[in-house]
Amino acid sequence: MLPLDALNFDNTFSRLPAGLFTRVPPTGLHKPRLVAFNAEVAALLDLGPECVRNPDFVAYFSGQKLLPGSDPLAMKYTGHQFGVYNPDLGDGRGLLLGEVVNRRGEAWDLHLKGAGKTPYSRFGDGRAVLRSCIREYLGSEAMHHLGIPSTRALCIVGSDEPVQREKTEAAATLLRVADTHIRFGHLEWLHHSGQPELLRTLVDYIIQHHFPELDDKADRHAQFFREVVRRTARLMALWQLAGFAHGVMNTDNFSITGATFDYGPFGFLDAYEPGFICNHSDYHGRYAWNQQPSVGLWNLNALAYALSGLVGKDELIDALQTYEPELLEAYSRGLHDKLGLQGEQAGDRELVVDFLDLLARNGADYTRSFRRLSSVRQDVTLSPLRDDFVDREAFDAWLDRYRARLAVEGSNDDERARRMNAVNPKYILRNYLAQVAIDKAESGDYSEIERLRSLLSNPFAEQPENEHYAALPPEWGKHLEISCSS
Ligand code: AMP
Ligand code: MG
Repeated sequence: MLPLDALNFDNTFSRLPAGLFTRVPPTGLHKPRLVAFNAEVAALLDLGPECVRNPDFVAYFSGQKLLPGSDPLAMKYTGHQFGVYNPDLGDGRGLLLGEVVNRRGEAWDLHLKGAGKTPYSRFGDGRAVLRSCIREYLGSEAMHHLGIPSTRALCIVGSDEPVQREKTEAAATLLRVADTHIRFGHLEWLHHSGQPELLRTLVDYIIQHHFPELDDKADRHAQFFREVVRRTARLMALWQLAGFAHGVMNTDNFSITGATFDYGPFGFLDAYEPGFICNHSDYHGRYAWNQQPSVGLWNLNALAYALSGLVGKDELIDALQTYEPELLEAYSRGLHDKLGLQGEQAGDRELVVDFLDLLARNGADYTRSFRRLSSVRQDVTLSPLRDDFVDREAFDAWLDRYRARLAVEGSNDDERARRMNAVNPKYILRNYLAQVAIDKAESGDYSEIERLRSLLSNPFAEQPENEHYAALPPEWGKHLEISCSS
């Protein structure tokens, strides 16, 4: 394991043409203190858990001190926000500190969120609040451990520095770790500002670093777009299967490698409510949960437009047409697995759709209902799950069909339960759980953050000592309004 000040930086992005970014040093937080540290992500960087005891740890990750080898910069990008092109975006409150290459040869971006003002800050203060850092820290780690591509988080550093949001809050920093911080919006910017040379340079850089298998292909740009379409379709399917709502699916919040990126007012479904809107500023429900698949395609259209100087129109359209079948295939296969079905039988689709419909009509909990379905026994007509449904007769009727379907394939109850429990999580980051951790942290007790991180790093396992974390949300926690200010 390496000492903290010997991280192996190789800053490839900062060697690209200077027009792509502005070098900016971080503005350190005043009187920083450690809030959370994730040894699992430290290990990705070849750092042992003891790195957090380095007297400079907090100085490095609050922006007070520069890690040797880092080369902090603010990236320029633009993007479509709620459907409208905004030419003035860029890293306004986060800096790419540099890229660390670990012993396995993997390169990881270190991005310090909340690191102070940059030329792209517009009216913002360049800061992030403790609340939103905790949400991103827990949300991104939870997604990763659900098996969904996501950025990761190394640590949160807090301070008493006041920042003004709806109320006065305390500034904090989050150290985000990701394969890349290049967004759809990077390419939109270069296209819309008429910089085709730089656009080609950046696309070739992306291919070389993140899609190396395409590097020597004559039609690499077209294949690259096709691959982004495939990954985005897959990501949308995974979000829907997990009941995850992103909240702000602007193209500047979409990663070019298909990872979940930029956690704002995100949320996981409690009750299955397809029209769920987690961002209380999203008045028209543009990013409602059930809109996510079509927004993914909308964003890919914006990206296709940005690539129209590099890739032929027909190839772009061809690639876009693979989105829906790719997504539907992954989503229906995922639902099939969530129900524990094997093979294909006539009527499977209806069985799945009717279960979701039953959940929606009864306001039943999405995560818990799927999880508890694994305990259904074919020789028992009643299921404990029944009590979660208002319309019990409708549930019983569905259950009869489900049991009959399992019998057709000769399903073994124990073996099926094992399979189902490996895809239906027991523990998710319910909004109210995050809120409890935030409330405690805001009064100086950070312990709940680590407890949740650890819980959610094993979401499919039974954790008897943590059973209460799998409970339904209390009344106060059912409809928390999540502001997009962060
Ligand atoms: P976000 O809503 O975090 O995806 O950010 C959208 C845009 O606003 C990005 O260009 C951010 O860098 C910028 N931004 C968000 N919050 C701040 C802030 N407090 N200070 C400066 N820029 C910000
Ligand atoms: Mg953003």
